[in-house]
Amino acid sequence: MPGSRSRPEGRVARHVREAPRSGIRAFFDLVSATPDVISLGIGEPDFDTPWSIREAAVYALEHGATHYSANAGLPKLRRAIAGYVGRTFGVAYDPESEILVTAGVSQGLDLAVRALLDPGDEALYPEPSYVAYGPLVAFAHGRPVAVPARAEAGFRIEPEALAARTNARTRLLLLNYPNNPTGAALPRPAAEALAAFACARDLTVVSDEIYAELTYDGEPHTCLAALPGMRERTVLLHGFSKSWAMTGFRIGYACGPAPMIAAMTKIHQYSMLCAATPVQEAAAAALAGPGAEVAAMREAYEARRNYARSALADLGLPCSRPGGAFYLFPKIEGLGLTASAFAVGLLEEERVAVIPGDAFGAAGAGHVRCSFATGLDELKEAMARIARFVGRRRAAGS
Ligand code: PLP
Repeated sequence: MPGSRSRPEGRVARHVREAPRSGIRAFFDLVSATPDVISLGIGEPDFDTPWSIREAAVYALEHGATHYSANAGLPKLRRAIAGYVGRTFGVAYDPESEILVTAGVSQGLDLAVRALLDPGDEALYPEPSYVAYGPLVAFAHGRPVAVPARAEAGFRIEPEALAARTNARTRLLLLNYPNNPTGAALPRPAAEALAAFACARDLTVVSDEIYAELTYDGEPHTCLAALPGMRERTVLLHGFSKSWAMTGFRIGYACGPAPMIAAMTKIHQYSMLCAATPVQEAAAAALAGPGAEVAAMREAYEARRNYARSALADLGLPCSRPGGAFYLFPKIEGLGLTASAFAVGLLEEERVAVIPGDAFGAAGAGHVRCSFATGLDELKEAMARIARFVGRRRAAGS
């Protein structure tokens, strides 16, 4: 439009200008202005990174790991990733050509959609979803297509729902199990149904399995790339932020067929060069070392999940049983409040932060996300405060 560059905003690319700001960040502006809040809002471990990992980063810095690494990442880290993924998920990748070390799963997602979508291609993803998927697809000039996952189906996306939104332009299916924000995990039969759908429609799959180690009730994680027909069409994304409590390190990786990883590496070499070298050393130590500490964190999350889910159910806020990750996604609409009104009211009256479910897309309306990456004592105090808030709302409504 003529004259639109007369203001600085007019100089920003339209598809970036028009992308929504993260609903989580918007709510957190409000949280940070409120004193003494118990936060069930953030999606990161309350645990500190195990010492052996931190020491490896310090040691690496002291011993001169201050240079670029190979674009794809340190060979020894790629070998360690190949070993770990092969042992844990049962899929073999060649460390030379099929693994790329990234600055977190966030960068892996960005590279994958940019490498795999042509302009105008459609990418399906289940909603409620992690906030980055839609905007990243739009930044890659693709068309994000959210597919609602039903609460009654445990927030697992159903092939019929995907089929209803698949057409000749559909190229990509973005999946995330165990899921943020619902905690839904994918038992093997459900994973097989999704794999069969992807194969039948010849879709490329980007599978964000960042919570793979955090599964509960003794149910093992099913890696989508390990299922028949999937390895050749899937980019597996994983990282260290959650299970190893390494959010601030910014490190993750992508595994997939060589041409897909080569395409992602091409973008990575121009836009990032390589992941931070001392951090790659820390990631290698994470894969070599602290299995017992990682297992202890997982056990703590499971105990908290059991406590918080039954506490919410006792308050009449039902939620499907999260099979993984560290989130509960209770339904609050029975109180006659929108998710935002619930979250703002709870913050203002009881100083507990939860995230309105519609920050994760329209399909999250009527729910809120409560993270249990919070110590058990704080979680108990938060539940007592939520009980007071809910009690007052019920009394006002009766
Ligand atoms: N994917 C999902 C589903 C997440 O929940 C998150 C963080 O909350 C990320 C990716 C980002 O991970 P990273 O810290 O590895 O960039």
